Amino acid sequence: MAMSKEQIEIFRRTIAERREALLAEIREDVARSRDESYGALAGPVVDTADEAVADLLSDLDNAETSRDLNELRELEAAQARLDAGGYGLCEECGLEIALARLRAVPGAARCVKCQSVHEKTYANQGAPKL
Ligand SMILES: [Zn+2]
Repeated sequence: MAMSKEQIEIFRRTIAERREALLAEIREDVARSRDESYGALAGPVVDTADEAVADLLSDLDNAETSRDLNELRELEAAQARLDAGGYGLCEECGLEIALARLRAVPGAARCVKCQSVHEKTYANQGAPKL
C-alpha cells in the first residue's frame, strides 16, 4: 500500500528538520575542531552550500562528524526519493520499508532484512576513510 500524501508530507518535514539539526551539529563539530577561526560557521545561516561543509570536513578525521555526514547524505538521498516518488521503498528488494522503521530512521534506504544483509556484508571492512 502506497503512502498517503499526508504521510509523505510528515516524512518530508521530519527529514528537513533532521537535516537542519545535523547541519548545525556538523558546523559545531567543525567549529570546535578548528577553534575560533571557524567560529563564524555557528552563525544563523543554515543554507550555505553543502560543498562548503564538505570542504571543511575533507581533512577532518572525526568519527562522529563523519557519521553525521553520512546521515546527512542519507537524508538528502531520502529527500530526492520523496521528490521522485520512490520514498519508502527498499533500494535492494523494492519492497516497502515498514513505517515504524521509517519513523525511527527517516533516511532508511533499505528494509530491515536487506539492511542486516548489507551490514553483514560490510561489517568487516571498517569505516570508510574520508
Ligand atoms: Zn529490502
